Amino acid sequence: MPATRAAGPSLRLKHGRDRSLKLRHPWIFSGAVAGVDGAPASGDTVPVIGDDGKLLGQAAYSPSSQIRARVWTFDALECVDAAFFARRVAMAIAARDGMLDADHTGCRLIHGESDGLPGVIADRYGETIVMQLSSAGAERWRDSIVEALAAQPGVICVYERSDADVRTIEGLAPRNGVASGTLPDTVSLVEAGLRYEVDVAAGQKTGFYLDQRDSRAAVRALAAGRETLNMFCYTGGFTLAALAGGASRVLSVDSSSGALALARANLARNAMLPAERAEWRDADAFAELRKLRDAGASFDLVVLDPPKFAPTAQHAERASRAYKDINLWALKLLRPGGLLATFSCSSGVDAGLFRKIVGGAALDAGADAAVIGRFGPSADHPAALAFPEGDYLKGLLIRKSA
Ligand code: SAH
Repeated sequence: MPATRAAGPSLRLKHGRDRSLKLRHPWIFSGAVAGVDGAPASGDTVPVIGDDGKLLGQAAYSPSSQIRARVWTFDALECVDAAFFARRVAMAIAARDGMLDADHTGCRLIHGESDGLPGVIADRYGETIVMQLSSAGAERWRDSIVEALAAQPGVICVYERSDADVRTIEGLAPRNGVASGTLPDTVSLVEAGLRYEVDVAAGQKTGFYLDQRDSRAAVRALAAGRETLNMFCYTGGFTLAALAGGASRVLSVDSSSGALALARANLARNAMLPAERAEWRDADAFAELRKLRDAGASFDLVVLDPPKFAPTAQHAERASRAYKDINLWALKLLRPGGLLATFSCSSGVDAGLFRKIVGGAALDAGADAAVIGRFGPSADHPAALAFPEGDYLKGLLIRKSA
């Protein structure tokens, strides 16, 4: 018996099921597992052994999830300890070098699997870091991760928003509160010179959609003189960007009254922006798009940044209908020559499918339109080449023919 198996619990793969691991994909599904030797507890690090007895890596064991283990390292000899997490956190943060400056004080510091830390998200908003742990392995190493984050220069608080639904699948209870330091009265970030307050305790995800940094900059650059509709506006990200870019009017819609209240406050906080050009509406997007059309409204620029309709490929069909519906109505609302910035953050809908859906929407809307640009997440949201699931956010810039 190989020495590694005598040393403690281990996980053995079925014959032929080591392929994805050899391609450096970090997930081991339950169906690939031939057996578990010993009795590892949830979150324990176990050596992963191929059918041929070869050590393939070391992974965090998660007994209740379909993703039975997530690989920390493909190096069989690397020690997975507090120092390992300090190194991985430092590497992730170093990779964001240059993304934080006086005009940009928000940035994703750790993006899970794509930063070699499955189940770990950390977003920096000024002096506060919001951390989200969503796997048994991440939970096991919580203290080491918090310590590494808290040691970052200029950080006074690490706040934990480990309350995503996926924790239930991992057998973990939700946790929401300060993990280290003191939470400032107000947490905010500056993006492209605009200040946004972040509700770290109750906002969506960790409080702000940092992944849309580049897209907001692009919309800002396109907005001059355009009457704009911002659907799914959340706390006003694209609204403020469009106003800063000289939009003549921005109508912003969201179904969350809390998000809208913060959006209004965010606009007020940026005194240089023309607040009189903004109108806010608390409404369901699907109904509101039809209502606007019935009322004869039209726009020069529409932003559609909906929530994740398809978390996985299994939801793709229903999600496709939802994407098609909103894009169809948005295209109808566009004036000739108008622009549509349309997004999908669903992993289950890839870029090719999304383009087809929007194409179908244009056809049904009777709109002659073309793709004139593409959007993706900013550089602080890397997608490891070995981890296609990381490629979740895509956007198209569409121009309706004049
Ligand atoms: N564009 C935003 C992020 C959008 S997140 C930014 O840059 O910050 C998606 C938003 O859609 C959330 O604010 C959520 O409240 C809203 N939402 C979800 N379902 C909705 C619906 N049916 N109608 C209107 N808004 C909805």
